[in-house]
Amino acid sequence: MQAGQVKSDWVRAYSAANPMEAELLVGLLQQHGIGAGLRSQGLMGGIGELPLDALHTPVWVAPRDLEPAREVLKAYEAKNDGPDWTCSECGEVNDPRFDFCWQCGQAKDDNNATG
Ligand SMILES: [Zn+2]
Repeated sequence: MQAGQVKSDWVRAYSAANPMEAELLVGLLQQHGIGAGLRSQGLMGGIGELPLDALHTPVWVAPRDLEPAREVLKAYEAKNDGPDWTCSECGEVNDPRFDFCWQCGQAKDDNNATG
């Protein structure tokens, strides 16, 4: 699934620590039927001058999706205190917040009944 286009009236639902987390959150929200997206930061100009928060990446949703998105993001943040887990597919050690391996996309829970 591709990240949707961010419309001009979309609102910022979350500020991810980096583009990687932002991509993960967009995927997470899309799993919940929420069309989240990222705006291109536009690596324009500023030769040799990256702002310190250049990695900070906002996640955008449609205004009507803000409430459900916040619920998903709250649950996401609540998972932040678990142990790291190792991907069964590629062996990557992942942050407890991640339901999917950031490296290869393998789901955290093998018993996850998808259907
Ligand atoms: Zn993996």
